[in-house]
Amino acid sequence: MESGYARSSDSHPVLTDRLGRPLRDLRISVIDQCNFRCRYCMPRDLFSEGHPFLAPQQLLSFPEIEAVVRAAVGLGVRKLKITGGEPLLRAGLDQLIKRLTQVPGVEDVGLITNGSQLTVAAERLRAAGLHRISVSLDSLKPQTFSWITDRVGDPGKILDGIEAAKDAGLAPLKVNMVVQRGINSAEAVDMAAHFRATDVIVRFIEYMDVGTRHRYQSGLLVPSREIRDAIHAHWPIEPIGSNYFGEVADRYRYLDGAGEIGFISSMTQPFCGSCTRLRLAADGKLYSCLFASHGRDLRPILRRDASSHKKNDPLRLLSPEVSRRLEEALVGFWTARDDRYSEGRQEQQEGTGQPHEKVEMYHMGG
Ligand code: SAM
Ligand code: SF4
Ligand code: SF4
Repeated sequence: MESGYARSSDSHPVLTDRLGRPLRDLRISVIDQCNFRCRYCMPRDLFSEGHPFLAPQQLLSFPEIEAVVRAAVGLGVRKLKITGGEPLLRAGLDQLIKRLTQVPGVEDVGLITNGSQLTVAAERLRAAGLHRISVSLDSLKPQTFSWITDRVGDPGKILDGIEAAKDAGLAPLKVNMVVQRGINSAEAVDMAAHFRATDVIVRFIEYMDVGTRHRYQSGLLVPSREIRDAIHAHWPIEPIGSNYFGEVADRYRYLDGAGEIGFISSMTQPFCGSCTRLRLAADGKLYSCLFASHGRDLRPILRRDASSHKKNDPLRLLSPEVSRRLEEALVGFWTARDDRYSEGRQEQQEGTGQPHEKVEMYHMGG
């Protein structure tokens, strides 16, 4: 299949990669730091308190992020998702959200968070124009929650944050649960029970071999179909269609009308064929796949000839020259893309005998 650039009949730009997949979504990591140490993401023995995370000057500034978003929107991006690390640790995040929701062409701005700061931040995020929020919550039991996040924590606080987000009008709200065998797998039905008939959509995520530092253990993977069958045995469910092309979750509804749940099965039912997502890491590197080994650094374009007092000048960052260079970089990057790591996982691992080098998820943003 040919990659390329065209306009659809409604004048929507369509930039396609080498497998014919259009560019639609941009995931923006705003920080690589986190206040949790989830064992499947940032194991504490490798990410101690003194870990050298990105320094403030290495992070893209808000005007720099906006410049990349404007270029991406010009090429067809319509949905943005703010992530990290823990995005709510980035100071002034609501200011970024305000900027991004005002970019013409942006239809949807979402945020994914561990929920620990939500009781304080929910109102501010909504006032800034945020459309949607996903909260990661793997257990309702204090002991299991603390074990997974490797800190003394209280899932009750995350539930309070979810309520605060609902009260602020951030709907539909999603709760993401990464299911690990023998750790929280027995709780999947309880999680479904907790959020049935509440308008909160729980999505069960398969534990993945992202990055290399968390030392993936295949025995912890629980195929989504096991969880689906367990829930179906309690409350019958049926599949419903996707909301849009490229949606990652398989959606189901309870037959008794108690709402919706979803399954994200990247390990057992990969969806590379409809992957429309580009990722921008907090240091300005672009990645075209969650399992990428290398990125394309945009900072040389964003910071070219910028004296320190001009660094964030919108006149410079949104000038035709910088916009053209960003657009060229994005087009070149997306049209060269042929990633399908999850579909070819087996071959990749067996083919070379070499471990596949992978950028960490907390760095590029999940
Ligand atoms: N800190 C925020 C949070 O936890 O929601 C945003 C960033 S986090 C990297 C994004 C998502 O990646 C979370 O839902 C997290 O559970 C998920 N994640 C991280 N490591 C994972 C793994 N090894 N397998 C599956 N999901 C993972
Ligand atoms: Fe932090 Fe999210 Fe990674 Fe957990 S999954 S360590 S909350 S970035
Ligand atoms: Fe997209 Fe890469 Fe995941 Fe496949 S493995 S769905 S290409 S991010």
